[in-house]
Amino acid sequence: MKTKIAQVVVVTPHPDDAEYGVAGTVVRWVSQGKEVVYVVCTNGDKGTSDASIKPEDLAKTREEEQIAAANLLGVREVIFLRHSDQGLEDTPEFRKEIVRLIRMYRPETIVTTDPYRRYIWHRDHRITGRVTLDAVFPYARDLLSYPDLMGEGLYPHKVKEILLWGTEDVNYRSDIAETFHVKLAALGCHKSQVGHIPPQELKERLRERHRLLAEGEDFQLAEAFHRVEILW
Ligand SMILES: [Zn+2]
Repeated sequence: MKTKIAQVVVVTPHPDDAEYGVAGTVVRWVSQGKEVVYVVCTNGDKGTSDASIKPEDLAKTREEEQIAAANLLGVREVIFLRHSDQGLEDTPEFRKEIVRLIRMYRPETIVTTDPYRRYIWHRDHRITGRVTLDAVFPYARDLLSYPDLMGEGLYPHKVKEILLWGTEDVNYRSDIAETFHVKLAALGCHKSQVGHIPPQELKERLRERHRLLAEGEDFQLAEAFHRVEILW
């Protein structure tokens, strides 16, 4: 199997989470010439309060919405793992899926959801974050973790940096003042999720959230992360 280098891989539990978490920063990376790939773990087929929508139709709609959002942001590729929404588990199989992608794309930076947010936090978010951290270290790194992947040409890889969104322990803020409008437009692509919110209200809510996340910085709007630098 051929490697397809990307500097950034975003591992997101559901379609739309990455738009909330990191889309403004993604736009900046893309403008700097970085290649960004999205990995969407679940199909999002529980994400509605409309009983007339069939789960399989919702899953299809949400893939289309995610592709539209990714195109706006300049994301190079979107990979859908299509696990059942609310069905993720910390299994060897899921971990290996993520290791396989890390070894294939060989990113410097991985972005995902912070698994260590306390109390009310979507279980798929906890599991996505935890499995991704485990996949980075030690499984993607170690020669003998998956001899069969080596046989496919997927060799060990050392990720340099992890950014976790949704964190209670912010230690890194990214300036999104210039890219906020693209993030807002990308979020707007997820009509099944935000279509009921008047556009002006969505803009104001999102702007306020990112203004609060920028407090203490010399820029106006931020995405906030717990950043882990890995010194191998
Ligand atoms: Zn989610």
